[in-house]
Amino acid sequence: MSDSFNDASSAVILLSGGLDSTVALAKTLEQMPVSLALMVDYGQRALAPELRASKAIAQHYNVAYKMIELPWLAECLPKALDGAQPQTQEDWNSTQDPIANTHRVWVPNRNGVFLNIAASFAEALGASHIVFGANATEGETFPDNSVAFIEALNQSLSYSTLSKLQVLAPVATLTKAQMVTYARAHNVPLHLIWSCYEAGPEPCHQCPSCQLLGAALATYTETSACSR
Ligand SMILES: [Zn+2]
Repeated sequence: MSDSFNDASSAVILLSGGLDSTVALAKTLEQMPVSLALMVDYGQRALAPELRASKAIAQHYNVAYKMIELPWLAECLPKALDGAQPQTQEDWNSTQDPIANTHRVWVPNRNGVFLNIAASFAEALGASHIVFGANATEGETFPDNSVAFIEALNQSLSYSTLSKLQVLAPVATLTKAQMVTYARAHNVPLHLIWSCYEAGPEPCHQCPSCQLLGAALATYTETSACSR
C-alpha cells in the first residue's frame, strides 16, 4: 500500500453502501478526490437496498456514481446471497464452524473481479487509486479482505495497468467498532447505509453481517456511555 499522495491523486471506489465502503469513502475524501463510485449488481439478494444506499451515499458526498451489471456472477453465488434459500438467525447459528459459514456467504473471487473492474475505470479516468472497504474484522475471515491480498493485488496491477495504479484500503486496519467510532465523529451518514444480506425493506438483524454491525454499534454506545 502506498501512503504517499500528491495533488494528482484521485480514486475510483467500490461502493456497496455498507458500513465498510461508506467509511472507506469518507476517509478517502480526506486524502484525495473520488472520480467515481462503482456499485455492482451481481444478482445479490440485497441488490435493491444496496442500490438505494450506495446511490444516496454517493449523492451525499457529491461523487459520480455508476452501476455495473455482472449477470454471470449470479451463477456462482452461494444460496445465502442469491435469494433461493431464506436464512434465520437460528439457521446461521446452527453452524458454529466459521469456515462453513464463510462458504455460505462466499462469492467466488468477488473482490478480485470487482477490483479489477475498478482498475479498468481508474486507468481510463486517470485515477491513481482504487478503493475498497477491506477491514480488520472481515480480514480475519475473508482472505480477500486481508492486507496480504491488497499487497498481492498491487503487484498484479503493476503489470495489468500501464499507470501502475494502486489499491487504497483506508479502513484495512480498523474493526467494525472502530469504523462506527470514526463514522460518528465525522458525520458519516450511517442512517443511509445497508449492511444486511437480505432484501429488506428493514435489516433482518439475524444474518452475520447484521450481527457484526449490531455488535459494532452496541460497542460504540457502551463506549460513549462510559465516557460521559
Ligand atoms: Zn441482515
